[in-house]
Amino acid sequence: MEDKRAQVRENYARIAANIAEAADKSGRRPEDIAFMAVTKTVDPVLVNEAIDCGIRLLGENRVQEWQSKREAYRPGIPVDFIGALQANKVKYLVGQVRLIQSIDRLSLAKEVERIAAKRELVQDILLEVNIGGEETKSGVTPEGLPALLDEVAELPHVRVRGLMTIPPPTSDTRFLEAMQALFLRMQERPGADLSILSMGMSGDYAEAIRFGSNLVRVGSALFGARHYPT
Ligand SMILES: *Cc1c(COP(=O)(O)O)cnc(C)c1O
Repeated sequence: MEDKRAQVRENYARIAANIAEAADKSGRRPEDIAFMAVTKTVDPVLVNEAIDCGIRLLGENRVQEWQSKREAYRPGIPVDFIGALQANKVKYLVGQVRLIQSIDRLSLAKEVERIAAKRELVQDILLEVNIGGEETKSGVTPEGLPALLDEVAELPHVRVRGLMTIPPPTSDTRFLEAMQALFLRMQERPGADLSILSMGMSGDYAEAIRFGSNLVRVGSALFGARHYPT
C-alpha cells in the first residue's frame, strides 16, 4: 500500500502542475480550476492520501459505494455526485452532496425538488449534456438544454450552477469547443447563474481547461487504472 500511496503523491503533483500550466495558458489562475478526485473502486486509504496532497473535492459515481466508504474518508471534504442516477437514489444525495452533477431530465430534477422541499433546503445541481449526441450516453441533448433549463428554473428548491459533460473519446477537440460555446450561450440567458463547467477527465483535462472547463474530474491518472469495469 505504501507504494500505491507514493504513486498517488507523484500523480497528484504531476496533475496539479499540468492544471496550473493549462490554467495559466488560458489566462486563469490555478485556484480557479477545481481538481476533483474521482473515487470509484478506490481504497479510502488512497483517497485520504490524495486529500493529504491537497484534493478538496471528491466525485462519487455510486450511491452504495459512497455510503460504504464515506465514514473512512477524512472529514470535511465536499463531495459531488457524478454517476448515472435513478430517482429512488435521489433521497440519499439531497442535502448530503455539494452538487449533483448528473441531472439530465425533468423527472429527476422534480424528484430533487420534492426531497429538497421536504428537507427545507436548496440543492445545487449541474445539468449533464450529451455533447456528442451518443445514443448510449446519458445527458440532455444540446437542443433540449434550453427547455430543460427553463423547466428547472421553475423549481424553487433546485438551483442550476452549471453544466457537466463526458465528451466522446477522441483526440479531436471539436466536442470540447462545442461544449464551451454552448456553456457561454447558456450563461447569457436571462436569469441564468451558471458558473461551473465540469469537463475533462484523465485523458483530456488539460485540453478541457483550454476550452473553458473550471472543474476537472480525474480518476485513473491520479489513482491508477481501475481493476473492474465501471
Ligand atoms: C470515472 C469517471 C471520471 C474519471 O475518469 P478517468 O478517466 O478515470 O479520469 C470522470 N467523470 C465521470 C462521470 C466518471 O464516471
